[in-house]
Amino acid sequence: MSYVLTEKAATLQPYDPVEGTYAIRLDANESWITPDAATREKLGAAVAAMDFNRYPDPLASAPCAAFAAMYGVRPALVTAGNGSDELISVILSTFLAKGETMLTMAPDFSMYKFYTHITENRCVVYQKNDDLQIDVDEVLALASREKARLLIFSNPCNPTSVGLDRESVRRLVSGTDALVVLDEAYMDFWDQSLLAEVADYDNLIILRTASKALGLAAVRLGFAVANPRLTAVLRAAKSPYNVNLATQTLAAAALADPDYQRRCAQTLIASREQLSAALQPLVTAGKLTRLYDSCTNFVLVDLPDARRVFERLKQDYSIVVRCFGETRLRITAGSPEQNAALLSALNEIL
Ligand SMILES: *Cc1c(COP(=O)(O)O)cnc(C)c1O
Repeated sequence: MSYVLTEKAATLQPYDPVEGTYAIRLDANESWITPDAATREKLGAAVAAMDFNRYPDPLASAPCAAFAAMYGVRPALVTAGNGSDELISVILSTFLAKGETMLTMAPDFSMYKFYTHITENRCVVYQKNDDLQIDVDEVLALASREKARLLIFSNPCNPTSVGLDRESVRRLVSGTDALVVLDEAYMDFWDQSLLAEVADYDNLIILRTASKALGLAAVRLGFAVANPRLTAVLRAAKSPYNVNLATQTLAAAALADPDYQRRCAQTLIASREQLSAALQPLVTAGKLTRLYDSCTNFVLVDLPDARRVFERLKQDYSIVVRCFGETRLRITAGSPEQNAALLSALNEIL
């Protein structure tokens, strides 16, 4: 006898983050702010006091309540996941029937399309224009033509850093019968969220994450916010104990201080502004072809020979950024010292 892999299993490509040890990591859009020693002490004590032998709260009520309080939504609309990545997977495998069509965009977060490979759903891709903007009417026309049952995109967008204003997103959600999954992973850095009105729509799920502005990428926690009907489905579909107790404990503590979190977001926005401003002379000098207006904690630049610049930053300066194709780099805003090191390296290379 011999076991034959399904084609979809055999052709899976593993997610491939940069491996190895580098001095400066500006490749994954993480926060560069970490807890001080006193906070670590408190977090450690909270974890040490956990009931290790018991299953955790299946609904992760403590972090969901803290999230709801911080963002001014009702806790009854919030579902927690093991990172928003898990929630994306649960949503696609639950709300799409066999063979149905999902619409996503390009450039956008690559994981959306990845999951349709596993769920065996059709994926239609809306190509953004040269300014990396979204034309809502074109998206709606494509969705209708292709009979899309689910639309998913990030706003502000990773990897473009570009935002779509709230009124346009409203028009998109209202203009389709499809389920719209609005990934607001970076909305802590912008002010065009639809969270406050999420329950007004029968077809909207908003995703948020603790991995970016909240500085908890290591902890793995994401949230889906939607009306009660959709929330009931999400809670039924997820695996029962998807958020472990260490995550619940650490996140509830971190989210208990919204003022601190908002100050962190402001600090991260300031470091992005500093980075953008310092890159501007390279645009003026023609070394960078384009610097996009960012609504996030990272910037996207176009330049000839991006691959070579990416490799040199890595090899010669121990600085990692993300390279897209041959002409684009995505650079996470770091601390003032990290930004300075990056700029000095870039100036030398270019
Ligand atoms: C980083 C990111 C996420 C967060 O994923 P987690 O699994 O919560 O860490 C989700 N969506 C986008 C677009 C992202 O860039």
